[in-house]
Amino acid sequence: MNISRDQAKVIRDLLVSTQSQELNCNELLDKIGEYVEVEKSGETLSLELEMVKQHLSLCRECEEEYQALVTALGHFVGEDLGED
Ligand SMILES: [Zn+2]
Repeated sequence: MNISRDQAKVIRDLLVSTQSQELNCNELLDKIGEYVEVEKSGETLSLELEMVKQHLSLCRECEEEYQALVTALGHFVGEDLGED
């Protein structure tokens, strides 16, 4: 296994940040618009937005807010037709 210095730093920052300042739901909702925009643009998520993503995977309420926002923005129109 060969992890570059940058990757190691990102991983360390991620560990530190998730331990010391996990996002709460209010903080997440402040950033969720930015998260959707970056995701939509296809740009790389910042560390902060990675935390948003992680929170969404753990928090059903915020995930629902996220889905509602995505729907409102038409982000997945033509992509997610709800088949399943
Ligand atoms: Zn939440």
